[in-house]
Amino acid sequence: MAVCARLCGVGQSGGCRQRQLEDGEEDEVRIEAGAVQTVPRGPRTLLQLPPEILVEIFSSLPGTELPGLARVCKKFRHILSTDTIWRRRCKQEYGVCENLRKLEVTNVSCQDVYVKLLHQYRHILGLWQPDIGPYGGLLNVVVDGLFIIGWMYLTPHDPHVDEPMRPKPVFRIHLMERKSATVECMYGHKGPHNGQIQMVKKDEFCTKCVQTDYHRMSGGRQEEFRTWLREDLGRTLEDIFHEHMQELILMKFIYICQFDNCLTYRRIYHPPSRPDNLMRPGFFKGTYGSHGLEIVLLSIHGTVAKVTKITGDPNVPAGQQTLEIDLMRTVQLPDVEHLRNFDKMSRLILDVQAQIQREQRLQESMEEDGREAAAPARVEPARPSSVLRSPEDQDAKQDSEPQTPVVQSFVLPAEVMARNEEYPRVWRMCFYGTGLIAGHGFSNPERTPGLFILFDEDRFGFIWLELKSFSLYSRVRDKFQRAEAPSPEAFDEMLQSMQTWTK
Ligand SMILES: [Zn+2]
Repeated sequence: MAVCARLCGVGQSGGCRQRQLEDGEEDEVRIEAGAVQTVPRGPRTLLQLPPEILVEIFSSLPGTELPGLARVCKKFRHILSTDTIWRRRCKQEYGVCENLRKLEVTNVSCQDVYVKLLHQYRHILGLWQPDIGPYGGLLNVVVDGLFIIGWMYLTPHDPHVDEPMRPKPVFRIHLMERKSATVECMYGHKGPHNGQIQMVKKDEFCTKCVQTDYHRMSGGRQEEFRTWLREDLGRTLEDIFHEHMQELILMKFIYICQFDNCLTYRRIYHPPSRPDNLMRPGFFKGTYGSHGLEIVLLSIHGTVAKVTKITGDPNVPAGQQTLEIDLMRTVQLPDVEHLRNFDKMSRLILDVQAQIQREQRLQESMEEDGREAAAPARVEPARPSSVLRSPEDQDAKQDSEPQTPVVQSFVLPAEVMARNEEYPRVWRMCFYGTGLIAGHGFSNPERTPGLFILFDEDRFGFIWLELKSFSLYSRVRDKFQRAEAPSPEAFDEMLQSMQTWTK
């Protein structure tokens, strides 16, 4: 830890394990299980090894151990100034594949890159959600060549939910000179300019722009609004007037303008997945009516699937759980002709809801009677049919009985509104679920019944019964670096705390 603190340039190295040696004094040292110990003089010591072997040994140690070694003796210090050691650490620990020789031109060494850039800013690598009130967002901070870049992931333009995400750089950090790394804000159209980054606490940091005049446009706010509309939403002023969306959109623009110079980010994780999951958890883009496309997170918790908002809107803000799917309650849809009838489909879902309410009442009355509540017969959660598995999985399960692939035709009931007419026309499994609806400002939130439709490995849908509307969700295919949750518990904790961020 002391070594680490020294590397960051904070704190004292007082806790160092090695005693400090005078220049020129050469004690003998050997490495055991990563620790450095001084030992009595003997024939087999590290110091007697040829320098090229020492370079090889030191290159395979974690970079954080190296400053401690440098303090051991003059010879070690000299060897540790070899840039190949640091080049290898940059590559192995941070995946820097760039030709680091380029650095020589700027007189910056690989050691500088490791110590002053990668190690210094390692805590901000990964996935983050910006605190932009109800709107949220998704940021991935990655090492990219000799830069650390913060990419904000914008959804494709509404309603093209199957199109790829649009990453946009919002800040970058690099070493322009030896002294220290430079943080630059990338907002606006006038190029990178001065910014700052500060770790607020564990899993929270903030960025600051110190030259917001770089964000301004010659045509004033109006030009900025038009540009934002075109670039971020793929819309024109005429479009939004025509679609009666001007109020919602103008409100969003005014709101996010407040975060022009300062933004706080909180760490989020990719959901953990298990091989027996019905569907691979992850990030999805979904249609939310006039709110446009939003980013959500699908996670599976035993017999329940949760869909949490990563971006949100003034009705249901980011961080809230938009859908909850009961994987124990499958719904068998009728054939296509009957499916067109909204009342029939509606009855199917309401029947499940009534059944759940009966079970709950029974449970409560038994608890009141002080009797041991007889748990309703537990059924196994629905298993994915064979069509859901990848070919490799199927090979592994060859000895199990063959399942007939369940693929049935799908069509939306006539009265249900869909943002995108190009929804899938076959479905694999359907479940009962609830969706969260609320008034403006997240007033009177309520979970209302609906139908969750699993179309394929990368798409699902939800019919909001009360709203008579349909949301289509499509998987975000980008691979996010350093996004794994340290444990399933850490992930659950994150979901919990996310709900309170926007309140
Ligand atoms: Zn800026």
